[in-house]
Amino acid sequence: MTKNSKQKSDIDSIYDSALKIRAHHLCCIQGFQGYGYSPVFVANMRAVISDLEALPSRPLKLVTECDAICVSCPGKRECNIQESVFSREIRQMDLVVLDKLSLEDGAVVKADEAFRLVNSKINRASDIEEVCGTCKWKQKCLWYMQEGM
Ligand code: SF4
Ligand code: SF4
Repeated sequence: MTKNSKQKSDIDSIYDSALKIRAHHLCCIQGFQGYGYSPVFVANMRAVISDLEALPSRPLKLVTECDAICVSCPGKRECNIQESVFSREIRQMDLVVLDKLSLEDGAVVKADEAFRLVNSKINRASDIEEVCGTCKWKQKCLWYMQEGM
């Protein structure tokens, strides 16, 4: 294997092993205090967060579609219907976060760097409101409440 092809294969394997996370979930993860759509959803959210705590520099692939958190959500069907108002609203949250971070859909970033970027680029009340919009979890979300003050 040449040096260039080895580098390409190393980069491919980072992309393959990257955990898929919707961009706006970078905020939700930080605000999570045990509330969620169902016990299964909450258990999966805890597992994702534990994974990230165990490996803070794990690569994340930032997306605008169903991710490692959505897989256990009772609402994922509606979120996957591209034309639904709900789906569009949720995707818009992802797009706002990506835009504020100056990242493309599908960008791969280390988790700790992604959280650092979010908290440094999205910290004005108006920006946070732009991301969180009509989210029904605002009053249960530490990130929203702390960052929005
Ligand atoms: S308020 Fe809602 S959308 Fe915003 S970070 Fe919290 S849970 Fe996520
Ligand atoms: S509401 Fe949609 S975006 Fe949010 S966790 Fe559920 S499936 Fe994912």
